[in-house]
Amino acid sequence: LQSAELARSDLEEGNRRTKIPFNIIFVTAEVAPYSKTGGLGDVCGSLPIALAARGHRVMVISPRYMNGVTDAKFAGAFDTQCRIKIGCFEAEHEVAFFHEFRAGVDWVFVDHPSYHRPGTPYGDTRGAFDDNQFRFTLLCHAACEAPLVLPLGGFTYGEKCIFVANDWHAGLVPVLLAAKYRRFRVYKDARSILAIHNLAHQGVEPATTYSKLGLPGDWYGALEWVFPTWARKHALDKGEAVNHLKGAIVTSDRIVTVSQGYAWEVTTVEGGWGLDGLLRSRIAVINGITNGVDVDDWNPMTDKHIAAQYTLDDLSGKAECKAALQKELGLAVRPEVPLVGFIGRLDYQKGPDVIQAALPEFMQDDVQMVMLGSGDPQIESWMKWAEATYKDKFRGWVGFSVPVAHRITAGCDILLMPSRFEPCGLNQLYGMRYGTVPVVHSTGGLRDTVEDFNPFANAGKGGGTGWTFSPLSKEAMLGALWTSIQTYREHKASWQGIMRRGMEQDVSWDRAALQYEQIFEWSSIDPP
Ligand code: ADP
Repeated sequence: LQSAELARSDLEEGNRRTKIPFNIIFVTAEVAPYSKTGGLGDVCGSLPIALAARGHRVMVISPRYMNGVTDAKFAGAFDTQCRIKIGCFEAEHEVAFFHEFRAGVDWVFVDHPSYHRPGTPYGDTRGAFDDNQFRFTLLCHAACEAPLVLPLGGFTYGEKCIFVANDWHAGLVPVLLAAKYRRFRVYKDARSILAIHNLAHQGVEPATTYSKLGLPGDWYGALEWVFPTWARKHALDKGEAVNHLKGAIVTSDRIVTVSQGYAWEVTTVEGGWGLDGLLRSRIAVINGITNGVDVDDWNPMTDKHIAAQYTLDDLSGKAECKAALQKELGLAVRPEVPLVGFIGRLDYQKGPDVIQAALPEFMQDDVQMVMLGSGDPQIESWMKWAEATYKDKFRGWVGFSVPVAHRITAGCDILLMPSRFEPCGLNQLYGMRYGTVPVVHSTGGLRDTVEDFNPFANAGKGGGTGWTFSPLSKEAMLGALWTSIQTYREHKASWQGIMRRGMEQDVSWDRAALQYEQIFEWSSIDPP
């Protein structure tokens, strides 16, 4: 991809402001700090700020979730008094828009009763909400109307804008632009970018729901999806469905994945989740841009969640964080014992089952381990079992807690990520910033961002920021863990070098924001 090269030289010139300011609309199901559940929320919470800092006018539009737990996070967003009616799912649904201007960005929240219920943006303890197709179809319609109707700061965004549709939840945005609006010459100069954070979730629903989506009947082909025989429920099933993500792949002007490695993986049979052929047909417009991180939020020098702040030049604070974490977890406070952490959704994607398989062997060594996550109930109860079984060595923290995630990131020596696939992965980036060495399965964004330790690189000075392993097996993972632990115990200088190189990396959004900007420019509309 050329964009990376261009971006680097542009940054070197000290060019921090855009020459072509765009109106940009991010459409997303979740956004930090309001409603984050994972990397999608992190990205939509910080990339828009970086783009606004470069001089673009940026709106992020997402549902106003009132779940009884995180409601206070939306307290700074006020009712704009603007109401619109959206025709879909056989009725007219009134939505309201709430707004907060913060960090140079217009954060807009769509308000509707279907977003007011306990749980995450996607579901509750019983599983995914059964009206998610409706909830996110509503979001897409509202997002297409917002730039036309909302006078934010006195001015609407207008028709000349670039929509960034994130994952399947926003997948109808490019379809609506193409099928509904352009038919009436509205948004004829707008562009749409599909950002793929995770291809495994596509919004596949019965074909009969098409007529409810508020799209013209003759655009059915854009969403039409015949899924493979093996995925059908019974013999009579013809596999007919609509696929929201497929609609976006077909109709968007450009496609971005959250790492370069993932841009290639989605075009392969193994990584394409049935959409690889279609994605190959659009390869000319696909780019991979590796996510940045929010360097204010994730900064060991200023982090308020951790026991002591620290810098590259004085790592004594990291030792304090480790001791505090050991104490908090009820593990022996021993500076010399390697402490390994895992943070993530307990989902097949993240490979917690591989840790489960390897744990009995791993626990024979003089090590400590902590896992933070929630999701698969079987893995959750296994974590509790493992905690009771390996009392002195293992802690399984079932739940979702941003402060705990920070304390684990700072306090551990090693961060383990045995993801089966990983579009980008953020924890390894956070880990490296905190001098916590990643040991990761060599896949997607993990392979792009973690460089294997090599003591002989750089004329014997050493190179690399962690360890990658392949294939994804218990044996390969334990092998990489043991190599890293041996280095930790016996080669202190090498370990310091690995930490240093990780902490010195530039993982800010500046680079990625510039690369996104280039995609906007390449999608070539005149500025507003
Ligand atoms: P994904 O988006 O696939 O879940 P990423 O690595 O891209 O994975 O991003 C995950 C984000 O969610 C990170 O910021 C991570 O710290 C956070 N996270 C995941 N699980 C938890 C948890 N149980 N508690 C707190 N934060 C979590």
